[in-house]
Amino acid sequence: MVKYGEIALKGLNKSTFEDMLQKNIKRRLKDLGQFEYFRKQSTIYVTPPEGADMDVIVKRLSYIFGIGAIQRCAVFPKDFAAVAEGAEEYLRSALECAKTFKVEAKRSDKAFPMKTPDIQQELGGVVLSHFPHLKVDVHDPEVTVRLEIRDNGAYLGAERIVGAGGMPVGSSGKALLMLSGGIDSPVAGYMMAKRGLVVDCIHYVSPPYTSERAQMKVEALCEKMTNYCGDIKFYCVPFTEIQEALRDNCPEEYFTVLMRRLMVKIANKICERDGYGAIITGESVAQVASQTLTALYCTNEAAEYPVFRPVIGMDKKEIIEISRKIETYETSTLPYEDCCTVFSPKHPRTKPRIEDVKAAEQSYDFDSMIEKAVAETEVKRFRCGEQTIDLFD
Ligand code: ATP
Ligand code: MG
Repeated sequence: MVKYGEIALKGLNKSTFEDMLQKNIKRRLKDLGQFEYFRKQSTIYVTPPEGADMDVIVKRLSYIFGIGAIQRCAVFPKDFAAVAEGAEEYLRSALECAKTFKVEAKRSDKAFPMKTPDIQQELGGVVLSHFPHLKVDVHDPEVTVRLEIRDNGAYLGAERIVGAGGMPVGSSGKALLMLSGGIDSPVAGYMMAKRGLVVDCIHYVSPPYTSERAQMKVEALCEKMTNYCGDIKFYCVPFTEIQEALRDNCPEEYFTVLMRRLMVKIANKICERDGYGAIITGESVAQVASQTLTALYCTNEAAEYPVFRPVIGMDKKEIIEISRKIETYETSTLPYEDCCTVFSPKHPRTKPRIEDVKAAEQSYDFDSMIEKAVAETEVKRFRCGEQTIDLFD
């Protein structure tokens, strides 16, 4: 049983979100065999094929945004005797090694002859008769045995997994994540996908100053992110000429802020051409010189779309915690150079003035370089759950 997260709070348009969630689940489980789906009472019932590996299925489901909880259950006819008979076998693995338990019953089918407290008491007795080593603990049990009497059957389970939460990917539109090889931007992408955005990635490379391995690292990050984000379109922008032009024509102290503005201007073009509604970055106030308020102002001023910075108020430590959880940390901390660090000045301006920045930018014809970079941008696609790049060999 897949139970909704925030979708449950939706009103009239709830079914649109449910459709989206069900579609995402189907896509995520497709390669594991023929599943059956049906929806009722704020739940999606997912019936796996015979012999399917339930651990793999639950793991997959645990990545999908929009899911509040996943309950593994066996389905019985709506007849207490049938449940009682099957309970021992089904619950054995969960209860054999436990010390305490409780029963929680839910009776959504009001025509069922037993009342909820009676179901709980009776089933508790059945469990104790088969597993006499157990003690009942209603406050803090090791295992909660759940029996839900629903319209279409009695669902018995002892395992409830907390879902990824958030809204189904795709239900909020699509945005373009500026993905570097660092720790912060993959976390930023994860956080916005959680709010229902399709997150595609744009990455700027400066060969030969940046290596092929560095690009592979970012592609590996994309692959990791597909677990949560679903399919990802990856734009790889050739940025060498722009960086060289910056180095040769602009005051060194403005290099970083100008580079970031030009990155944003390229992102603007891609957003406009391919229909993205926002730009996402992994910026966090005060982390580095380009993330002072004045520098952020200068970068932001170049944006023609809302810029989402979900980690803006987070400490590095908090960001790292999430990156470990979403399994991007190890890849992010591999030591490959980013184009940001190429030619980066020894003393960047921490308080750049927008007039000076714009003046420096206008001293050279960057517009045609932007057009060229966009035209030469390469696109790759990473499929949901695909993990092919191995940088740890
Ligand atoms: P991260 O850990 O994500 O690399 P950071 O703290 O190192 O962030 P910067 O290197 O200043 O900070 O980059 C700030 C943001 O700019 C990144 O989070 C990312 O969104 C974007 N960015 C930086 N370099 C690139 C790049 N080469 N390609 C795409 N986006 C980039
Ligand atoms: Mg970085």
